[in-house]
Amino acid sequence: MKKTLLLCLMTIMTIISMTGCSMNQNHQASSQDASDNSTVSSQASSNAQGSESSGQTSSEDAKPTGGEDFQDDDWRLILANADHPLPDGFTVPELAQIQGGYEIDARIYDAFQQMESAAEADGVDLLVCSAYRSIEKQTSLFEGNVQELMEEGYSESEARRITGQSYAIPGRSEHNTGLALDIVTPDYQTLDDGYADTAAGKWLKNNAYKYGFILRYPKDKEDITKIIFEPWHYRYVGRDYAAEIQQSGLCLEEFLDQK
Ligand SMILES: [Zn+2]
Repeated sequence: MKKTLLLCLMTIMTIISMTGCSMNQNHQASSQDASDNSTVSSQASSNAQGSESSGQTSSEDAKPTGGEDFQDDDWRLILANADHPLPDGFTVPELAQIQGGYEIDARIYDAFQQMESAAEADGVDLLVCSAYRSIEKQTSLFEGNVQELMEEGYSESEARRITGQSYAIPGRSEHNTGLALDIVTPDYQTLDDGYADTAAGKWLKNNAYKYGFILRYPKDKEDITKIIFEPWHYRYVGRDYAAEIQQSGLCLEEFLDQK
């Protein structure tokens, strides 16, 4: 028991030391981002607000257009969670680089840039601290941690279980889709509940949907998403779906079930 606690602590410390924004997580539920951020380099903190400052879009300019026919294979609604891994051989067709050198699916580049500019116009600095992450990279981090634990004497199944508490299973993290971003702000880069009360956290909650992004892991949906409340984690689904989701208060899993 003592050993498990110590190991758990050490894992958290390792993650924190490797990440751009730091994770302050109570271990009640799992988090996507303890592991997702472990590839984040400290470069993020030095580049608060990308280069985009021209052609500003105020938040009123982007209005959702209302309902839309649902299509099963719509790339914007792809689900990646503990129960639904991405399909074998999943790849993002094309990546585009945003602030801090982070990458996202090129199809959502414009939406992100518009959101960033709109926030800036409203006096809010959005700082990305994690975005796309390849399944290969995640596999190597996950397996590396399993190996380390096994060298410390854990059985393989124990090592995988413990690793799964802090590292998203490869192919089951939304960051593998290229459609998810962790967004903080220069003055508050800790990944914890407190971020929700910052200007950036509030702005995102009220405005992200106008650009097609949803708060993916709401506070009251932890039982369904199986992920702790993550006020920094936003997922692109397109403007129409985002508006529907925002209005309904459903999380993505519920929304997809209903369709
Ligand atoms: Zn995330």
